[in-house]
Amino acid sequence: WLRGSSSLTVVMTSLPEVLAGLAAGERAAKLFQERPAVSDLPKAPALAVARGGITFEQVSFAYPGRQSHLVLDGFDLTIAPGRSVALVGPSGAGKSTVTQLLLRLFDPAEGRVTIDGQNLREVTQASVRAAVGVVFQESVLVSGSLARNLRLAQPTATDQDIEAALEAANAWGFVRTWEDGIHTELGERGVLLSGGQRQRLAIARVMLKDPPIVVLDEATSALDAGSERLVLDALDRLLSGRTSLVIAHRIATIRHCDQIVVMERGRVADAGTHASLLQSSTTYRSYCREQSVA
Ligand code: ATP
Repeated sequence: WLRGSSSLTVVMTSLPEVLAGLAAGERAAKLFQERPAVSDLPKAPALAVARGGITFEQVSFAYPGRQSHLVLDGFDLTIAPGRSVALVGPSGAGKSTVTQLLLRLFDPAEGRVTIDGQNLREVTQASVRAAVGVVFQESVLVSGSLARNLRLAQPTATDQDIEAALEAANAWGFVRTWEDGIHTELGERGVLLSGGQRQRLAIARVMLKDPPIVVLDEATSALDAGSERLVLDALDRLLSGRTSLVIAHRIATIRHCDQIVVMERGRVADAGTHASLLQSSTTYRSYCREQSVA
């Protein structure tokens, strides 16, 4: 949970991004490394998202080829529409796996995952992925201009839409100082970005997609205080009013979530608010202690 990592931030919201993600860091690769292990039922309808409520009901799951290892084991979770839940827990507890099932990269072996009451197994994968924006730890920025990168999330976005998303993500302040603005080349042949700038561009990408549901795998890299504040502030704005599932590494982010779920060995070990878990959960208390020391 508190492991250090080189984290930049990735947003992957469509197939080109998923493919780009394969070249990204280990964690991004982990999420999308396999061909989708699910297929749509004949004539499966698209997911219809009204308010974005999420449930995991007694979900058990093992990865293909590792059937004997139940990564999720009777996992339950309810996220009311517009609310945010933080998942914390030791490495290997199953946090990323929960996000993979929410994106319908896999179907559970038992139990069900629903969005607005619809079993994800019964709707198309593409419609599930369209409803969920992912902000990831490692950043995948493909070669080309910033505008091209952002349009991966929303091909029809106008330059004005892009500026508005950058503004909301606290990124317009630095982008506007570039001579070519949003048409500036990124990557090896273009501008070099700091970790905090990459994270804000990643947030802008999801802002542009404007999904009802957001999954955030929070970056763990240390940012300077100014950048940290701008990133957290942009995240606040992104999560506000959207249903969100956050794999949280910073106490500052965790505290903002409506509910915190402590996972251990594929199950819910405890759940509550920051204040209540400080009372009830030794695991949570020790995380908080470790973090303030770190
Ligand atoms: P971390 O904080 O280290 O990322 P986590 O809580 O997110 O951990 P998961 O990544 O969900 O945990 O992993 C739970 C278990 O599933 C681990 O034992 C892991 O090795 C295994 N696992 C994860 N992804 C795969 C995969 N694609 N194929 C096979 N096993 C996997």
